[in-house]
Amino acid sequence: MHIAMKRRILNALLALLLILCCTGAACSAKESVEGTYFLFVGGEYEKQFFYKLSRDKWSYSDGTEGRYEVHENEIIFYVSRYGREEKYLKGSVGGGKLTVPGWGGTLEFYIYGCAPEEERGGASDGQNTAGHTHDWGEWETVVPATCTTAGVEMRLCKADNAHKQTRNTEPDPEAHKWENGKCKYCGKIKPAYTLSADGGKIYFGEYPKTEVKDEKLKSALDWLAGATPDYTFNHTWKDYGYFTSGKVQSYMWYNDVTYEGERYRGVFFTSYRPTYTTYGNTRDNSYQDNNGYIVNTKYWFKYEPIEWRVLSRQDGRALLMADYVLDCMQYFSVNTKNRVIDGKTVFPNNYAESDIREWLNGAFYSTAFGDTEKNIIELTEVKNGLASTGDFFSEYVCENTEDKVFLLSWHDMVNAEYGFNPNAVAYGDSARLLNGSDYAKSLGLRETFYRDKEYSTFWLRSPYQKSSYAYVAYHGALDYADVVRTEGVVPALYIKL
Ligand SMILES: [Zn+2]
Ligand SMILES: [Zn+2]
Repeated sequence: MHIAMKRRILNALLALLLILCCTGAACSAKESVEGTYFLFVGGEYEKQFFYKLSRDKWSYSDGTEGRYEVHENEIIFYVSRYGREEKYLKGSVGGGKLTVPGWGGTLEFYIYGCAPEEERGGASDGQNTAGHTHDWGEWETVVPATCTTAGVEMRLCKADNAHKQTRNTEPDPEAHKWENGKCKYCGKIKPAYTLSADGGKIYFGEYPKTEVKDEKLKSALDWLAGATPDYTFNHTWKDYGYFTSGKVQSYMWYNDVTYEGERYRGVFFTSYRPTYTTYGNTRDNSYQDNNGYIVNTKYWFKYEPIEWRVLSRQDGRALLMADYVLDCMQYFSVNTKNRVIDGKTVFPNNYAESDIREWLNGAFYSTAFGDTEKNIIELTEVKNGLASTGDFFSEYVCENTEDKVFLLSWHDMVNAEYGFNPNAVAYGDSARLLNGSDYAKSLGLRETFYRDKEYSTFWLRSPYQKSSYAYVAYHGALDYADVVRTEGVVPALYIKL
């Protein structure tokens, strides 16, 4: 072989060796951030949880991936959803260590071989180099278990929270992660509904419910949601389109964010939502502050399976009624004027032409149900005739409607077969006493006391014998309210079983 050729091969080999050396010991702060970062659990590398940072792309072991940016030590992860790129996580990276927010704490990932020496092998419970006996706090979940993979828990030493222990938890056979109607881990087909443990309730669809109180989770969600809206710009927030002083105005917004596989809804408002669509939005005109929700503050609510009461079950279908107040809305935004539609007078309490009917089959339907659920919701002929109202005569009844989601009628609410008291004025009927979700309260749900307990008023679809009123359930009896009032919403629907 020619001597120059030999030299060239040798140079190439040396260059290759140099590359291997550099990537093999990528722990110093000056190295590139590229590499595979493993979670460090109980003194061991947990190879099923890892982040891969290649030149311009990140990916996590659950299959999530996207672009990333590094500014100094800060790393920002982006993901693409529905063709639009959005911020996903913010953390820090450098020196062979990647730190990102996790469920119950901060997650630390290390390039293999880069974990700090004192953590290798785990911290012992007894005396240690720090000179104290560790005083361990509660175990907190940092990576939730799934149906096929173990989770990770961590606890910190109260004497020095740089001391930590981690451990794996068993896989949870019920912890599926649904994506496009299937579990992305075990492949199970997502059931359209599930039964409660006693079989008496059905969980079906999802809606924002419980307020998030965990400060760490809240700051992660705040960060993901980005800047809050102001008078000129909504940012990523969506306008509720609520009324005040008789007009739709911009003062209250929501933002749906997915974090670690769970959905959350943010709520933010710059003035109060009035109890009547016709009132101005001052604090005195609203129940939001009475419920503990104030202006210019971000609140977060977790999307949870909706719990439904089964009112009847026959011929392979079930009539369901939400078992708590999910939301609050006006029945109709104007109480003083009649409309003329197709040559007919339409009164403010006309259900077919009401705001609440449009909202149930529009915003509510598309928020609460995915394709799997929509497939089993039946289109129902909703009876709006005189028999549904409990009156002997009414000029306010409307034609029957064909709907997926509807409100119960006066007649439904006195049906003993559905479990209600046949006496409409029986106050305290437990079947007609419902509580509101945190989410509904943040939107201004009316809560009143009946025998020292708080309950919510909610709309029925039946018109009362005055054009500006419709029936509600109040303190367990059937009462009525002005259609422009913001009252509770308790949807009902038929599903195929
Ligand atoms: Zn300690
Ligand atoms: Zn699964």
